[in-house]
Amino acid sequence: MTTHDIVRILVAVYLVGALAIFTRLVWGKTSFILRGSPDDRTDRIGDRIWIFFSEVIGQSKVRRRLTAGWAHALVFWGFLAFSGATVDLLWRLVSGGEGFLHGPLASVTWVVTGFAFAILLGIAILAIRRFVFRPPYLTYHGIESAVVLTVIGLIGATYLGEQFAGGMASTYWGYAHLVLAFGFLAYVPTSKHFHIMGAPVNAVVQQLDDIQRMDPMDLEAELDFDGGDSYGWNKLADFAWTDRLDLLTCIECGRCQEACPAYATGKLLNPRDFIVDLKYHAKGETPHGNQAAVARTVGQEKGIEWEGLPLEQQPLVNHVIADQTLWECTTCMACVQACPVDIDHLSMLLNLRRYQVLDAGEVEPEYQKVFTNMERQGDPWGYGEHKKTETIEKLGEGVRIIAPGERFEVLFWVGCWGLYDDRSVETTRATLKVLDHFGVDYRIFGDTEVCCGENYRRMGNELQFQMNAQMNMELFGSVSFDRLMVTNPHCHQVFGKDYKDFLPEGMDAMPFDIVSVEEEVSALVRRQGLPDGSDLGRVAYHDSCFYGRYNGIYEEQRALVQRSGGDLVELPRNREESFCCGAGGGNFWREEKEPRVSWNRAAEIMETEAPTLAVSCPFCMAMLEDGLKAQDGFADKPVKVRHVVELVAEAIDAGAGA
Ligand code: SF4
Ligand code: SF4
Repeated sequence: MTTHDIVRILVAVYLVGALAIFTRLVWGKTSFILRGSPDDRTDRIGDRIWIFFSEVIGQSKVRRRLTAGWAHALVFWGFLAFSGATVDLLWRLVSGGEGFLHGPLASVTWVVTGFAFAILLGIAILAIRRFVFRPPYLTYHGIESAVVLTVIGLIGATYLGEQFAGGMASTYWGYAHLVLAFGFLAYVPTSKHFHIMGAPVNAVVQQLDDIQRMDPMDLEAELDFDGGDSYGWNKLADFAWTDRLDLLTCIECGRCQEACPAYATGKLLNPRDFIVDLKYHAKGETPHGNQAAVARTVGQEKGIEWEGLPLEQQPLVNHVIADQTLWECTTCMACVQACPVDIDHLSMLLNLRRYQVLDAGEVEPEYQKVFTNMERQGDPWGYGEHKKTETIEKLGEGVRIIAPGERFEVLFWVGCWGLYDDRSVETTRATLKVLDHFGVDYRIFGDTEVCCGENYRRMGNELQFQMNAQMNMELFGSVSFDRLMVTNPHCHQVFGKDYKDFLPEGMDAMPFDIVSVEEEVSALVRRQGLPDGSDLGRVAYHDSCFYGRYNGIYEEQRALVQRSGGDLVELPRNREESFCCGAGGGNFWREEKEPRVSWNRAAEIMETEAPTLAVSCPFCMAMLEDGLKAQDGFADKPVKVRHVVELVAEAIDAGAGA
């Protein structure tokens, strides 16, 4: 037996061992995922196939980051090319034959060689970024990353050695390539590099229809509380298979952390730690994030027990996740949007919130006050029904209130803000003026409107949400119209998406369209024009999370600002990358720990020196008015906050010489 034969046998044993370890570890991960509850992701198959080619093969989402994104894409494409080339190499070395890449497919060998160089280039860029110009959010796994980058680089280099060395040297380079490639294969499932397998699946099975529509809870189901059933989630056993896949897929890159308004303003919540801490818990390890340390301390103070319980049954809130972090989330969805591997932090977080409200009954006092106000007075402020009636009276006799049996074109949903909040009543007036100007056949409900319930759902109070949804669905069923128009993106989200779960039997979509006032008025302006003559000067526009990231409505507001005579100023963080005002998820109703999210955004607005800020959400208006007033320099350079529809009304007034 020659030395070469011995080396061949050793390499063969090593490869079989590595493959066995890989199979065993992947089976462990797969079993963990499959233990999750069902979550059907078989809708829109065509879109999912498109995502596979664009997002997975084309790396479209990753490439949104110019340097790191393209470097990662080069490595990924190189790996794809290698997966075939490595199998071919294995076959050649085992069989002694010429294989495909040196036989029938010899003409494409240069492509694989090109990808080997691409891997080396990508690795060099990633290494420089991580170890020379490291962004502050890249804090985890420095040494591990160095080892992995080196090994991947060597996999590329050994392939090139095998290609170009010639003779026996080629063969030994080939062995080295196989040893490294199979060693890496066995290592992958033990680390964050599991995303090589998890991310493509996660991309294809991501929630597509109705982004961030929350799953309805069956509040009438008989739950076996002694058997561990609960409303909401508080243990791994509650998680769906898609959430478990999310946990295992996280690459700990910190992009969600970088985008999060809570983290940016020094709150305990960090969406990366939220996912990573749950991941380490799921692996049976002690989570090491700051919030996890707080969670354990609070849990011990509250006497929460987890010792001795099976991992899947251990409580999560105030053991792995601090309850404080759940309330700090503004539900802005920036983390979900930023995540390169399609992790949905928010649905997990909101299900934990639901548990706190509905099962544990542990609600922040300010939230409890809002819930009580809604139950007793019918509105979150606790003003009472009379306030709605007063507003309707103040709007005057010209306002068109629905009469029984009428059919009309547009139902203008005034909403709690437009009825109860004095500043937003001005938005209601402006909307009515614009609708009258364009001759729209509209009606309003008057004082029979019931709060849409969006805030309660995202605050975890599914019971209150479902009551409001059912009342409003009955209200909608009593009238006949074509479009439901809102001035509040939270109403838009909830009517357009969350209410689909309350459709009557046999109906799979709302029998009317749901539009923002900006969409409705933009269409009117396109058809009928708008008087010229208004000069609003420089107007900065702040995107609301619920129109923007949740519903992709970005352009109509900008078009109206410009058409109304405004010189549009884009904020540095705009559209998908917009920064939350801080109000969402019920945070409007809480006394926020300083520095506030709205201050962070207001500072950015002040830097533009635009005297007017346009918004399309009453929450944003209230938060940013306060945030701007708190800025140094506001007294010298005040910024007036206006709803977009108020700018249109002003243009109409200017054109009429008012
Ligand atoms: S939804 Fe917004 S506030 Fe909540 S964790 Fe994600 S980025 Fe942070
Ligand atoms: S959740 Fe996504 S964005 Fe956040 S650290 Fe993990 S992979 Fe990165």
